[in-house]
Amino acid sequence: MHLSNHPRIRLGHLNTPLEPMPRLSELLGGPTLYIKRDDCTGLATGGNKTRKLEFLMADALAQGADTVITQGATQSNHARQTAAAAARLGMRCIILLEDRTGNKDASYRYSGNVFLERLMGAPTRTYAGGTDMNEAMQAAAREVSSGGGKPYVIPGGGSNSIGALGYVDCALEILTQANDRQIVVDQVVHATGSAGTQAGLVAGFEGANSGIGVLGIGVRAAREAQEASVFRLACETAERLGMPGVVRRERVVANCDYVGDGYGLPTAGMVEAVSLLARTEGILLDPVYSGKGMAGLIDLIRKGRFRRDETVVFVHTGGSAALFGYMDAFDKTLPPSLDTRDTR
Ligand SMILES: *Cc1c(COP(=O)(O)O)cnc(C)c1O
Repeated sequence: MHLSNHPRIRLGHLNTPLEPMPRLSELLGGPTLYIKRDDCTGLATGGNKTRKLEFLMADALAQGADTVITQGATQSNHARQTAAAAARLGMRCIILLEDRTGNKDASYRYSGNVFLERLMGAPTRTYAGGTDMNEAMQAAAREVSSGGGKPYVIPGGGSNSIGALGYVDCALEILTQANDRQIVVDQVVHATGSAGTQAGLVAGFEGANSGIGVLGIGVRAAREAQEASVFRLACETAERLGMPGVVRRERVVANCDYVGDGYGLPTAGMVEAVSLLARTEGILLDPVYSGKGMAGLIDLIRKGRFRRDETVVFVHTGGSAALFGYMDAFDKTLPPSLDTRDTR
């Protein structure tokens, strides 16, 4: 398996650390937990889209594009990392945001990732929930073309077989780090949404014949649909790598029991997981993806899904900037903030 013959531009701070979580492991009574710090990829507060963008932006440049267009939910981390990558490469960037949650709070609509995108010079356009966002991106691309620009459209989440190569790379990186440190990894767990992360990890781990299982915790779709889209993309990614057929259907596993009321809507488990990681390990998860992914991992540990002597790596896919769009969800969990000027 060669990644080196696929065009790539270095954007991330790689390799990211693979760190033990001793306090969380002890608190939950095993398995041994590690965290792969893909929240530390470096691109304007980091996250998993940076690895995908290394391959996608290389393709955009190879095609002579000067403007990238992408879409996501209001607090999309993918949109923020795309805006950062475009800024770094001197390209224009147009961000299309779909209101998937109906949250009218000003901090949700304008703070967090939305603020950062605009800070990096990318105009944002908001669309009603349920809009055909692929068509909206095509319309934006036509506008750019008619103005004399060269658009490049990146699908939501950067999830196509080019972007997924970034997570093939991550799988190989985890294998190398585990081998160096003699860590026997049994399972990798992470939040799965637009499917590129899991598709790349599965294609990488299967292509390397590692035997490592990957469990995606869903944040939007039901299990059947989620597994189907991950499987389809994993197969396409394996084909792009010249390993057609290497991914078997049963190696694609998602658990979609932790979505709650819907995409981007807080759950009690998410609030617990985000607070717990902050307080036991000093790690910031996010409210939409890694918080629900960790909520799933914690609940499955409590239910005995893992053996105590297993080693589980949680891939932290980033997103903490979105916390500033969701402060309300954490109100009841925060310790008091005393303004000593008011105390007599
Ligand atoms: C996009 C995203 C995910 C999901 O990754 P996919 O490749 O879309 O499945 C997980 N966590 C965070 C923080 C994300 O921004």
